Amino acid sequence: MLSSPFQNSPIDRLESFYKFHTTADVLRLDQLHPVVSGNKWFKLQHYLQQAGAEGKRIILTYGGAYSNHIVATAAATRERGLQSIGVIRGERPRELSPTLLEAQSYGMQFHFVTREAYRDKALPQELLQSHDLKDLFLIPEGGYGLPGALGAATILSGHETNSYTHILAACGTGTTLAGLIRAARDGQQVIGIPVLRNYYSLEAEIKILLPPQHTPFTLLHDHHQGGYAKHNPELIRFMNWWYEQTGIPSDFVYTGKLFYAAHLLAEQGYFPQGSRLLLIHSGGLQGNRSLPKGTLIF
Ligand SMILES: *Cc1c(COP(=O)(O)O)cnc(C)c1O
Repeated sequence: MLSSPFQNSPIDRLESFYKFHTTADVLRLDQLHPVVSGNKWFKLQHYLQQAGAEGKRIILTYGGAYSNHIVATAAATRERGLQSIGVIRGERPRELSPTLLEAQSYGMQFHFVTREAYRDKALPQELLQSHDLKDLFLIPEGGYGLPGALGAATILSGHETNSYTHILAACGTGTTLAGLIRAARDGQQVIGIPVLRNYYSLEAEIKILLPPQHTPFTLLHDHHQGGYAKHNPELIRFMNWWYEQTGIPSDFVYTGKLFYAAHLLAEQGYFPQGSRLLLIHSGGLQGNRSLPKGTLIF
């Protein structure tokens, strides 16, 4: 395993859940690094090992201008002495986003492509002219794939997590949840909160990453707050309130929606009395830089 700062993330107890007759802890992957999303780092490890084993020096991957995956890939490849290329959705902006500036500071090169080309995951012509395809190692968007899930399965390593009855995490591609399902013990309930709207094929996408016999899991589709990277005043109010209550910052794309869902579910009595919840804070705080200043109190 890579020597990284990503070994033992702290666990925080949420006293605000005692009134629901449950204990709730938060695994603070966000505290592992100020910018690089904790879950992304885990998802990348096996891809980077594979690239190393195949002697590939250049990692290519895809993302948007505020993508946690892009900045994590840039940082993780730099740490391994590899180069990175980001294929970025949309026209090159006049000013790069803070996320892209950060990725650039880790040496990532960008190719901006139209939304259509991005959707098709076509490789830009200029890139094919300047590089030999066989030198490139492709990591799918968001790190989706078996290597990503196997990396995410190590998120719980180093912590005693057997006593938790429920493990909850936000889902984009579902790769992280697949890893958590792989790592869960029998009888533990793994609950995913999809942040995309009406993303009902997610269950099948996750199952592709699991062995035929696996711990059952549940996806709760009603907590996306309007859809991917969408937010509303209610979510923002909750995130500020949650920060005041717990001291834990969240991001508006993933973890804000997870914590909001967990809070609502507990309030509605979804968890039996005496449940022990583990909420995965998957990081992503850098994405809040796309919000107008002053939106959040942290
Ligand atoms: C990417 C991301 C997720 C989603 O991870 P998947 O493995 O794609 O489901 C969750 N939280 C944060 C903070 C992320 O950046």
